[in-house]
Amino acid sequence: MAILTEVKQKEWQAAVNYVTEVYETVKKRNPGESEFHQAVKEIFDSLVPVFAKHPKYMEQSILERISEPERMITFRVPWVDDQGKPQVNRGFRVQFNSAIGPYKGGLRFHPSVNASIIRFLGFEQIFKNSLTGQPIGGGKGGSDFDPKGKSESEIMKFTQSFMTELAKHIGPDLDVPAGDIGVGAREIGYMFGQYKRLRGAHEAGVLTGKGIGYGGSLARTEATGFGTVYFVEEMLKDQGLSFNGSTVVVSGSGNVSIYAIQKATQLGAKVVACSDSNGYIYDKNGINLDTVKRLKEVERKRISEYVTEHPEARYVEGCSGIWTIPCDIALPCATQNEINEINAKVLVANGVKAVGEGANMPSSLEAIEVFLNNKVLFAPAKAANAGGVAVSALEMAQNSMRLAWTFEEVDAKLHEIMVNIYKNSVKAAEEYGFPGNLVVGANIAGFLKVADNMIAQGVV
Ligand code: NDP
Repeated sequence: MAILTEVKQKEWQAAVNYVTEVYETVKKRNPGESEFHQAVKEIFDSLVPVFAKHPKYMEQSILERISEPERMITFRVPWVDDQGKPQVNRGFRVQFNSAIGPYKGGLRFHPSVNASIIRFLGFEQIFKNSLTGQPIGGGKGGSDFDPKGKSESEIMKFTQSFMTELAKHIGPDLDVPAGDIGVGAREIGYMFGQYKRLRGAHEAGVLTGKGIGYGGSLARTEATGFGTVYFVEEMLKDQGLSFNGSTVVVSGSGNVSIYAIQKATQLGAKVVACSDSNGYIYDKNGINLDTVKRLKEVERKRISEYVTEHPEARYVEGCSGIWTIPCDIALPCATQNEINEINAKVLVANGVKAVGEGANMPSSLEAIEVFLNNKVLFAPAKAANAGGVAVSALEMAQNSMRLAWTFEEVDAKLHEIMVNIYKNSVKAAEEYGFPGNLVVGANIAGFLKVADNMIAQGVV
């Protein structure tokens, strides 16, 4: 490794020892939180070259400080279902790091939500937000509430109850939540209404992903999916490749997936498959996005319904089979750990050239190894899906200035941000001895800004 020529072996070993020790402490302090451990391990391991070169971060106990949230709030969310029966869910908000701005990160409503999931997402968010170049700290939240099968009135009652407690902990200069899995424009609308009622003021900047009529930003809905494709486009361009004429597989059929499909198609790709948590559809001629949008965004139905309108397509029960479909570019946009080592090996055997993570941590650590070892171009989530939160920060800026930019203005800024994230990640990877490794590059670039500002603000 090139870095070994610059720093002494002793310093490298000291950095490895430091990272290992702090990782063990994190595991002990957060027992059983496997997703959080996984996210921490990925980041810690890639920071070894930083500590070897700059021991000041070890002297300042930066890893110990950055891996412990500033605040972790859990709360009861009581609500009454349509049968009149009281129900209880658990709510979470982790306020992880505010070194460079107010806490910022989405809310996830899904039965799998627990402290580990929230902590992993919040931890990742620190570095992702830093990479955007916007002044936003890291946070995340959500609930184990399952929106599937709930009536409109139950969704409203739950989200209002959730916000009744959350409102005590957030604010436009303090903590600004947004959507994530299970939280879209409808839920943000109900939560904003409840917050406004509780505060007695129209504080537009308290949430992002709002409706356009009450302070939302144009292009926020599209931002994560578009941003992922913009990032992958840059990565392909560097190797003389492009979306044009390529075959693409996108998992999920939610917010991120739909707009990744739209942008990839606009750039000339053929997207042949997408999925939901029950199964996937394969349409060799390219999937019809209008049908997917109507089924998922309007009618809130299962993706299996697609084949009744498009009999030429095929529906297969179960999600992971989607990765057996041969493709040039894979865009996992559903959820964490949806690509394991075996899925990754099959993708490689089928000739995948690039993988762009639209979802958070969709590839296991072993799967990432497979991609990197086989020279697959790999765009890690922290960098590739940062477009959503970047446009959320632009929404906050518009709210503060009390003005609204056009779709084209926001989209152009998003594009520029994604190109910059790509360039900064490439540069950091090269500078620290891992050319072409965007996992290392993104983690280092995101870390340095936060760490330096933590040091500047003293031990707080
Ligand atoms: P949505 O709720 O809009 O969509 C999620 C999609 O993934 C749905 O199609 C859902 O299927 C599917 N899905 C959910 N859980 C599973 C599972 N366990 N196995 C297989 N499929 C599953 O969420 P988003 O599109 O907003 O989020 C998707 C990912 O992108 C998440 O990892 C999120 O953290 C990440 N992300 C989102 C951002 C945003 O701006 N929205 C920003 C950055 C990252 P079903 O319809 O059956 O539920």
